[in-house]
Amino acid sequence: MNGDNLGPAYIIKSYNSKHNVWGFLVIDNLKRGPGKGGIRMTPTVSEEEVSRLARAMTLKNAMADLPFGGAKSGIAADPKKIDKEAKKEIVEWFAEILHPVCPSLYIAGPDMNMAEDDMRIFVTANGSKKSATGKPKDLGGLPHELGSTGFGVARSAKMALEHKGISVTGATVAIEGYGNVGVFAHKFLEEMGAKIIATSDSKGGIYDPNGLKHAELCKTKEIKGTVTAHDKGEKIEGKKIFELDVDVLIPAALPDVINKSNAENIKAKIIVEGANISIVPDLVEPLHKQGILIIPDFVANAGGVISSYAEHMGYDETKMFELVKEKIEKSVNAMLERSKATGQIPRQAAEAIALERLVRHT
Ligand code: NAD
Repeated sequence: MNGDNLGPAYIIKSYNSKHNVWGFLVIDNLKRGPGKGGIRMTPTVSEEEVSRLARAMTLKNAMADLPFGGAKSGIAADPKKIDKEAKKEIVEWFAEILHPVCPSLYIAGPDMNMAEDDMRIFVTANGSKKSATGKPKDLGGLPHELGSTGFGVARSAKMALEHKGISVTGATVAIEGYGNVGVFAHKFLEEMGAKIIATSDSKGGIYDPNGLKHAELCKTKEIKGTVTAHDKGEKIEGKKIFELDVDVLIPAALPDVINKSNAENIKAKIIVEGANISIVPDLVEPLHKQGILIIPDFVANAGGVISSYAEHMGYDETKMFELVKEKIEKSVNAMLERSKATGQIPRQAAEAIALERLVRHT
């Protein structure tokens, strides 16, 4: 793994012999405050993936002008193959390992396969309520289950559509992944009048040119465990989602899903990165040259960390949503204006803004 003048500051790597599981924490940069970033639990997460995500958090927190540095954690376990008790023990173990650095150098939060109940387990085992955000409401938390990230992704999509001169009413959208980010992006975009015509999960995709209804699809996912079991629309291969002719494509699940195998076939006018590092870095420029407006991860999906900041400050839900709206709009506008003024592609323009803020805090 490579380092540079931004980081990483610290790496913690630990092995749990009982469950045969590795855990990683990468604290990338501490210039603006304690490192902030969620914990993901996936079978494939690696130190390298966590490092890239920690860097994305450094830029995201600076771009949203929050007093947090960048960090990320990963636990390499398959939540589908372990029972509830084993998951609890693993989260407790990880929280104890991170006790020396939480919350002074690292504040955890939920990420893939980690939710508010896991944050309850984490703060209890860690010993400090301030060691994680995204906690349940009874612990003073603003759980990610309120949908702050999906809300910010939906606001970003609306702004991108307006920038391209497309009305959000009737705009077509495809969403890869139907978890926390995907579900709430669907909900808030539907409320704005957009038409979500396809989505996917680990079992495959579902496509309905007439529009998939948020409430109905959530019910299907809850009862049948997968969006592919929906009784309206047509089942499609998960990878087909990236090649649909839509106004907005929202990757909201896995890293590097827009890659050499599909980049040339992307027909969307706009990509809003709900997930982190969903586009292979080398392809951002060619996609831009194809005329696609990309709202990068660290701009579009900052709603979660803005909500974390609101929780850290003791704000309520209403104030949190206002703050997400205000900060996301400010970031997208700043990026698009800088891009127009300098000719940089939007991601580079946003990176330049974030880097200036990191320098300012040295
Ligand atoms: P989640 O665990 O709630 O949902 C993940 C979804 O991805 C699930 O629906 C799962 O079925 C789906 N998925 C898994 N494999 C898939 C595949 N091969 N094809 C299609 N879908 C697949 O996770 P989340 O919290 O929604 O996070 C999704 C992404 O967004 C991650 O990259 C995460 O880092 C990023 N993110 C999340 C937040 C947040 O607040 N939740 C904030 C910022 C960024």
